[in-house]
Amino acid sequence: MEDTITTVPLPRARSTDPLNLLDLDDDALRVLCGGPAFRVRQIKDWLYVKSVSSVAEMSNLPLEMRAVLSKHEVGRLREERREVSADHKTVKWLFRSEDAEIETVLMCYPKRATVCVSVQAGCAQGCPFCATGQSGFQRQLSAGEIVEQVLHAQRELGDSSRRLFGPDHVTNVVFMGMGEPLANYKNMLSALRRLHEDVGLSARSLTVSTIGIPDRIRALAQDAPPVTLAVSLHAPDNRLRDLLVPPNRRWPLREVLAAARDFAAAKGRRVTAEYTLIEGVNDSPAQALALAGLVGPLGMHVNCIPLNSTPDTSYRPSGPETVARFAAVLQDRGVNATVRQTRGRDLDAACGQLRARSRAAAEATRQRSQVTGAR
Ligand code: SAH
Ligand code: SF4
Repeated sequence: MEDTITTVPLPRARSTDPLNLLDLDDDALRVLCGGPAFRVRQIKDWLYVKSVSSVAEMSNLPLEMRAVLSKHEVGRLREERREVSADHKTVKWLFRSEDAEIETVLMCYPKRATVCVSVQAGCAQGCPFCATGQSGFQRQLSAGEIVEQVLHAQRELGDSSRRLFGPDHVTNVVFMGMGEPLANYKNMLSALRRLHEDVGLSARSLTVSTIGIPDRIRALAQDAPPVTLAVSLHAPDNRLRDLLVPPNRRWPLREVLAAARDFAAAKGRRVTAEYTLIEGVNDSPAQALALAGLVGPLGMHVNCIPLNSTPDTSYRPSGPETVARFAAVLQDRGVNATVRQTRGRDLDAACGQLRARSRAAAEATRQRSQVTGAR
């Protein structure tokens, strides 16, 4: 399936450029290492289970094979910023990969460590309350760049000197960072498969969040293991959703919900509706009732998310009482509704914000140096 929503392709590697080993499938790895199938299994074990960061660490491979592989790279992400919350439960990274800035968040709980990965640098969908949507689309991330975010978090958790609170390995991955997963379908699907088959995460612990592209939701039901699907609704009617989630003009609620129903039927998995609560915009009891009417018959679970304010919009988060009332109306109507805890308030929790802040700082420095230069 071609990606028709975004048109900017991945930069093509020149034939002399080193390859990213995390972008190679089994056949490509076999050709590259020149060894039998068990060598490919060993290499993948080093890459995805032991999550090493260099070929030199692959100690059970013959020296000549290591020399060949060393001409290539184990991943491409360079850590530009790393911020840890005061309670040591949340880590947020800004990575650079060639021309792209990529945000990743690790959230630790007593028995769970969830990585929130980006699938695109920026996003073309333009949701007005989202920092990523405001900064526009830069490029697609490769499957290796998506998986590497999880491997990086895995190394962090495995390093006891980091003193993170929570398990010593990644248990869940949510595709809820920058970008629209179904607008980078092929690479996102390869990343899902690698996380499931090679890293060993269960399908249900992988969550794909989407604005809802009906054909691709149905394709995902065909192509992917039984992952968890979350659909970002944010409004109970098309008029409001056209504003909050602009792709709704092309794929209205009825079509998105029909595809969600088909996914649930194909996979036997309940689909989650995400609903970001914005003060005075989508948080009234009447809107909760209307939402219950839409999602109740489909057995969807609703995740109520208080908005994380971003600097460039006038949208404000609904207060805790409004959020609780909204969830209560849903529950009264028999809809399973939860309120998502927001994480890392001291860290610009919503994805896209660290990148936006880093860009604003770079711009301020540029302007300062222009002013100084003009003096
Ligand atoms: N593009 C996909 C996945 C990434 S966004 C999608 O939109 O579903 C992941 C979730 O975070 C979405 O539900 C999105 O609407 C929500 N989100 C974006 N900006 C937010 C903000 N400022 N506050 C709260 N939720 C936000
Ligand atoms: Fe893109 Fe999701 Fe942000 Fe909308 S909410 S702009 S789809 S990342």
